[in-house]
Amino acid sequence: MSARPHGYARYRLDGCRCYPCATARSAYDDNRTRALIAGTWQPWTDAAPVRTHIEHLRSCSMGLRAIAAAAGVDRKRLQAVLTGRPERGTGPQPKVRPALAAAVLAVEPTLENLAPSTPISPLGTHRRVHALVAVGWPQQYLADHLGMSPGNFCQMLRRPTVLVRRALAVQAMYDALWRQDPTAHGATPTGVARAKAHALAQEWAPVGAWDDEQLDDPEAYPDWTGVCGTSAGVNQHRRHGLPICQPCRDALATHRRAKRAAA
Ligand SMILES: [Zn+2]
Ligand SMILES: [Zn+2]
Repeated sequence: MSARPHGYARYRLDGCRCYPCATARSAYDDNRTRALIAGTWQPWTDAAPVRTHIEHLRSCSMGLRAIAAAAGVDRKRLQAVLTGRPERGTGPQPKVRPALAAAVLAVEPTLENLAPSTPISPLGTHRRVHALVAVGWPQQYLADHLGMSPGNFCQMLRRPTVLVRRALAVQAMYDALWRQDPTAHGATPTGVARAKAHALAQEWAPVGAWDDEQLDDPEAYPDWTGVCGTSAGVNQHRRHGLPICQPCRDALATHRRAKRAAA
């Protein structure tokens, strides 16, 4: 899997939700919140949290140029915070203006802000492709749409990471196609039926099972039935001839255990 050590970058880029990663994430949030609050009343504010934040962003493969562009500040001012101006014999700047601190602290390592060649978790990319196939988009069509050969497309679905550039392309494709009818875009009825059957066999969740904002969340699961994760879920899966999802299996097991304990 990932070669990144557990911590902030792994939380963001690999979607790891282990304890050290979650701790790093909340330390990051605390640091940022505290600095943003402090920045509201001080004419000059401590540069240390800004420095820490820049280091976090760099650990996520954001270059100084990209950070400066996202914050809307001059790169030299960030350099001054990080290292000072050695050519003038000055060390890292100890204080910054609150506006600069707020602008830098507001920068997040979102996909749009990351270098296109940064490898990240493929989770959201896979879920989007799977969801489109599940509503009838033939994989060949999706590969063409992305300008990929069928072989590369297939590999993308198996690799443990995906490049930011590809993740963004798949995101755009998903946003463009999820509401469309594949047959109106040249897919044959046979192709659509085959795509759906393949997805069902692989237990790939369709578009309707996902909330948009959950697609990249490693802790989210698709809601196939509207009641997934409750004891009513299994019956709904059976009624619609859908594969039973893990949260529903877990809910059923919990339900049975509770019944046994009561008896
Ligand atoms: Zn972790
Ligand atoms: Zn379910």
